[in-house]
Amino acid sequence: AAKADGRGAFRFYASAMHADAEDRRQLEQDLRHALVVGGLYLEYQPVVCASTERITGFEALVRWHHPSRGPISPSIFIPIAEEAGLIGALGEWVLRTACSEATRWPDGTRVAVNVSPIQFANPALPSLVMSALANAGLSASRLELEITEGVFLADGSNTDGMFAALKSIGVRLALDDFGTGYSALGYLKTAPFDKIKIDQSFVRGAAIKGSRNAAIVKSIVSLAEALGMETTAEGAETLDELALIRSLGCSHVQGYVYGRPASVEETMALLDNGTGRAQAAGHKASR
Ligand code: C2E
Ligand code: MG
Ligand code: MG
Ligand code: MG
Repeated sequence: AAKADGRGAFRFYASAMHADAEDRRQLEQDLRHALVVGGLYLEYQPVVCASTERITGFEALVRWHHPSRGPISPSIFIPIAEEAGLIGALGEWVLRTACSEATRWPDGTRVAVNVSPIQFANPALPSLVMSALANAGLSASRLELEITEGVFLADGSNTDGMFAALKSIGVRLALDDFGTGYSALGYLKTAPFDKIKIDQSFVRGAAIKGSRNAAIVKSIVSLAEALGMETTAEGAETLDELALIRSLGCSHVQGYVYGRPASVEETMALLDNGTGRAQAAGHKASR
């Protein structure tokens, strides 16, 4: 019986693996199709100035509503796009769409766009960025490109040259998910980041007594300040986290406490509201 169970378990495992690979191939095909016929859209999450609590910009986050499976997370389909050679087309669509939708916001309001390490290794990226800005009529200073430490691992790519080319266009550069990658820190000597985004794993739960996260956030903030860079605390969900983050000196906050990713129409209402406190309205008074 033990042997039969083992065989059964193995067969189950094998067919699950098979389904996984099959699933992936199907998703890849569906994504390829969505890129041609439409099916992707963007949501925008507010980025708020920690001291004034005013919205300074939004991060564009790509969404895919699968015709039969419903919404699929970008943490699932971005890696598929990267492996299937689709990230160039997907990233171009995101960049052009975000730049043109951002022109609906008041002048000065920024838009942040995530750039995959594969896009960053493509020498054509600067001309794509210039073309997206020109077509949309968006000034370069309103666009922030978010890259992760992954770009420093890409072999043979000219990261210094890419940084210089992008900075000369006038766009801003942010280092995303700081603290989760290899954090060799050496690249901070030369890489011209305007902002460090502190990963949500350090922000979430930072207000819990005994958590080391507050000490880590504090040291990232002083590192960034010494280097002349802004900081965004990502993923603040509670008012306790928000209060702590603000006391630690982060210059910006992004998280559910101020707003979830929402359609561009919904962002217009948030902006009319004047502050990031659309859903947290009244909290200040009640504190
Ligand atoms: P990210 O760039 O670090 O984006 C932040 C993620 O954290 C988003 O997840 C956002 O919805 C989520 N988030 C923000 N505040 C909170 C909070 O308070 N609590 C919680 N629990 N989550 C929060 P999302 O939209 O699922 O995106 C996941 C990742 O997918 C992004 O992480 C980014 O790495 C990637 N991604 C999204 N859009 C794009 C894109 O257009 N291009 C590329 N290359 N990657 C993208
Ligand atoms: Mg990001
Ligand atoms: Mg992040
Ligand atoms: Mg991330």
